[in-house]
Amino acid sequence: MSYQNRNVAASFHPFELSESSAHLEALSSWREYPRIQQPTWPNEEERARVFDELRAAPPLVFAGEVDLLRTHLAKAARGEAFLLQGGDCAETFADSTADRIKNKVQTILQMAAILTYGASLPTIKMGRMAGQFAKPRSSDTETIDGVSLPSYRGDAVNGYEFTPESRVPDPSRLWKMYTTASQTLNLLRAFTGGGFADLRQVQAWNKGFVESDAYSKYVRVADDIERAVRFMEAIGVDFDPIRMVEFYSSHEALLLDYEEALARVDSRTGEIYGCSGHFLWIGERTRQIDGAHVHFMSQLRNPIGVKLGPNASVEDMLRLADVLDPEREAGRLTFVSRMGAANVREKLPVLLEAAKSEGIEAVWVTDPMHGNTITSSNGYKTRRFDDIMDEVRGFFEAHWEVGTVPAGLHMELTGDDVTEVLGGSGELDEEGLQHRYETLVDPRLNHSQSLELAFLVADMLGN
Ligand code: PEP
Ligand code: MN
Repeated sequence: MSYQNRNVAASFHPFELSESSAHLEALSSWREYPRIQQPTWPNEEERARVFDELRAAPPLVFAGEVDLLRTHLAKAARGEAFLLQGGDCAETFADSTADRIKNKVQTILQMAAILTYGASLPTIKMGRMAGQFAKPRSSDTETIDGVSLPSYRGDAVNGYEFTPESRVPDPSRLWKMYTTASQTLNLLRAFTGGGFADLRQVQAWNKGFVESDAYSKYVRVADDIERAVRFMEAIGVDFDPIRMVEFYSSHEALLLDYEEALARVDSRTGEIYGCSGHFLWIGERTRQIDGAHVHFMSQLRNPIGVKLGPNASVEDMLRLADVLDPEREAGRLTFVSRMGAANVREKLPVLLEAAKSEGIEAVWVTDPMHGNTITSSNGYKTRRFDDIMDEVRGFFEAHWEVGTVPAGLHMELTGDDVTEVLGGSGELDEEGLQHRYETLVDPRLNHSQSLELAFLVADMLGN
């Protein structure tokens, strides 16, 4: 992860870590607000011990990086860049291996190459990675064969194994979340700063994946890019922007104990940064205007996302913008629309019209995953690739209708050849789901489905 902006170097000075900092003390006020989706830790002493350890630990991201991302997002809001955000629904400790992380990064870099090439727009690359370890759940309990246990809430909280012991929330998992996130970020920084993300590797990113229509289509795009790069090399163009790639981390800021413990005061400005990831978002289930999550996040300097589902009203949106982005600062606020293919053309334009007339210049991103979840007849939680494509199309159409900017794509994907989403050019059917269904929560696009989607979005952007 190399940051081209020279000012970034200035931010690598220590954050204030003083526990008596008045700023940080004020942050704990979320505990007085209605809070949902928080684990009930069985032992308060143990929670407090882990909290103190996290508070004393180094930040995972730095203020200068976060500020730079905000300026990129401001460009996306204006249509001068496009945000590509992708990764697992739920990262797990066991799957945070070098190979799996590398496959995800490769997939995102490939999608970014397709988008940048197809649309002639800079792509902001962001993983749902290095922190996506906690999940909101629709029910507090899960029942299997008449046995009810607490629901799995992500590796940051409890174990997936269906036993009473494993499902007890364990605060030491918050520390494991921090160390796993830091290992993941270390690898991301090495891959993207160490030459692997150099555009001259555009062909290498395709290596090792199974061949498919999208794979072959990618080879052709990569050939074109390579030729263009060789041409520029021949005429002596400066290669720094090609060699150095910025790759940002993001996750849903669900566990406020963790987020509070990782907040730091920037000693340059006295402002508070959430240092668990560059970009943090509030989920569909926790975006209550008077709730703990919105209150907590309003105090951070990071760019903030909020998911908006089909029940989001114009008033919800306007109030969220007022609380989270009172200054109407470019790049500060991202709205992630996840309406479902059946709703997006009807519901999204209403929000876009209102935002436009109120002068809210949010970064509008489509999450075509979470409004399109179904159960297959053989019992798998899945999504249809066609519905995902259709929601993306509906998202673009809504923006064209209103005259606003479609600024990004938020995806659940993996670089592995899993079988979790129905359809795509591989025509995965219900029977096929059982071959390699590995996700612990929501179904992800596999490598070739991810590329296919990138080609569609490149077409829409090029329009
Ligand atoms: C998610 O992003 O995994 C998620 C739970 O999404 P949403 O908040 O939109 O339901
Ligand atoms: Mn999900």
